[in-house]
Amino acid sequence: MTVVHDVPKQLYIGGRWQDAESGRTLSVDNPATGEELCQVADASPADGRRAAEAAVAAQAAWAATPPRVRSEILRRAYDIIIARTEDLALLMTLEMGKPLTEARAEVAYAAEFFRWFSEEAVRIDGGLTTAPDGKNRLLVTRQPVGPCLLITPWNFPLAMGTRKIGPAIAAGCTMVLKPAPQTPLSSLALAGILTEAGLPEGVLNIVTTTDAAGVVEPLLRGGQIRKLSFTGSTQVGRILLAQCADTVIRTSMELGGNAPLIVFDDADLDVAVEGTMVAKMRNMGESCCAANRIYVHTSVAEEFATRLATRMAALKVGPGTEPGIDVGPLIDIAGRAKAHDVVRDAVKRGATVLTGGELPEGPGCFYPPTVLTGVSADSAIIDTEVFGPVAAILTFDDEDEAVAAANDTEFGLAAYLFTQNLDRALRVSERLESGMIGLNTGLVSNPAAPFGGVKQSGLGREGGRVGIEEFLEYKYIAVPVGA
Ligand code: ADP
Repeated sequence: MTVVHDVPKQLYIGGRWQDAESGRTLSVDNPATGEELCQVADASPADGRRAAEAAVAAQAAWAATPPRVRSEILRRAYDIIIARTEDLALLMTLEMGKPLTEARAEVAYAAEFFRWFSEEAVRIDGGLTTAPDGKNRLLVTRQPVGPCLLITPWNFPLAMGTRKIGPAIAAGCTMVLKPAPQTPLSSLALAGILTEAGLPEGVLNIVTTTDAAGVVEPLLRGGQIRKLSFTGSTQVGRILLAQCADTVIRTSMELGGNAPLIVFDDADLDVAVEGTMVAKMRNMGESCCAANRIYVHTSVAEEFATRLATRMAALKVGPGTEPGIDVGPLIDIAGRAKAHDVVRDAVKRGATVLTGGELPEGPGCFYPPTVLTGVSADSAIIDTEVFGPVAAILTFDDEDEAVAAANDTEFGLAAYLFTQNLDRALRVSERLESGMIGLNTGLVSNPAAPFGGVKQSGLGREGGRVGIEEFLEYKYIAVPVGA
C-alpha cells in the first residue's frame, strides 16, 4: 500500500510537517477489514492554536497576492489531482470504503472545484454607482473575509475539502482545515499537492485530531478566525453556530438531510428506478443528499418496488478495492448498526423486506442493499438520516399528500421527483421545501451549481457563482465628487 505510505502523517502548520506537540497519534482504519492502515498525528488544542496563528500570520500577504497567481495555483493543483487520480482514488477507498469506481468519480468531482474556483478567482467584481442625490460616488470592492476554519466530514474525504479550500484560496483567505478523524489521509495528500502547486506557507494548515470539540471551540472563541465553513451533522452544526454567535463569526453550514424522492404515476419508470439507484446508492447511501424516503404513487408502487429490488439485489457487495464491486463497507460498525436498527424498527412496524435486511457474517462493516415496502410513517427510518443502503418505500394517492409528506421534516437539503408532466414538475419543485431538486435525476451535485439546504439543513451555498461569496466581504467607500 504505497499510496498510504507516501502520504505525510503529520500536522501541516505554517508550511511545515510536524508531530502533535503531545506526540500523540490517532489510528486510521480500513472499514473493509477493520484493520489499521496507519497512525497520523492527533492534535491538541495547543496545536490548533498554532495552526490558527499560522493562518493569521499569512493572511495579509495572501490577500495581497494577485488573483491570477491564486488562480494558477488552483489550476496547477487541478492538473496534479487529475494526473494522480488512481493513487488518490485508492487512498480514499482504503480509508473510507467506497468502491474504486466511485472513488475515481469523486477525484474528478473534487478536482473540478479547483478548476471552477481557479476561473472564479479572477472574476471577483465590485461596482461604482452614483448615490440617488447625485453627490457621492459609491465605490464597492470585495475583500477576503480573513482566516477561515474549515471542518469536513468523512463521507467525501476529498471533495468536501476542495469545495471549501477552492473558494477560500480564490477569495484570498488563509485557513485551518480540520478533516474528520476517520479519513484524514485524503486531506493530507491534498496539502502535499497544493504545496507542490505553489501555495505559500501558512495559507493552508491542517490539524487532524480525535478531540474535535477541544481543538475547535478555542479557535472559534479566540477572536482570530473570521469564518467557519462546516459540513457535518445538524446536531454538531447547532453547537458550532452557538459558539460562533459569541464572537460573531460568519458561517456556512452544510448540515444533515432527509431527502424525499417522489415517483408520480406519470413517471417513466425506467428513469425513476435508475434515478433512485443513484439517489439511494451513491456512496453506499452515505451522503447527505441520499434519498431517505421514497414516496411512490399507489398505482405504480408494486411495479416500482419489484424493479428496484431486482436492481438492488444484483449489486455486488465487497471491499471497494476489488474489481466489479458496487457497494463497499459502511464507515464503521456504529454506522452499520444504525442502518440495521432502522430496518428492524420498520419491520417491527409492519414493513416487508424485499431484499437485504440481514447482517452479514465476517469482517468489515458491510450491509446489504435493502428494500423495504409498506413502511409506516411512524417508523424511525422516516426521520432518521440512515446513511446506508436502505430504500424505504411508502405510497401516496395524490400530489398534495406527497408534497405534505415530503415537507414533513426539519430538513430541506435535496429532494427528487420523477414525472413526465412539465406542469407538475415545476409546480411540485416550487412547493418542496428543499435547497436542491433532482428532476428526473438522482444526482444533484455539480461544482457549477449552488449546493446547500434550507430549514435545518444549513446556511449558505457551496459551489456555483455564489460559492466564492461566502469567503468575501463587501467594502464600501464613499467618494464625494464636487460640482
Ligand atoms: P458525522 O456524524 O457524519 O461524523 P459530525 O457532525 O459528527 O458528523 O462530524 C463532522 C465533522 O465535525 C467531523 O470533522 C468531526 O470531527 C467534527 N466535529 C464533531 N463534533 C465536533 C465538535 N463538537 N466541534 C467541532 N467539530 C466537531
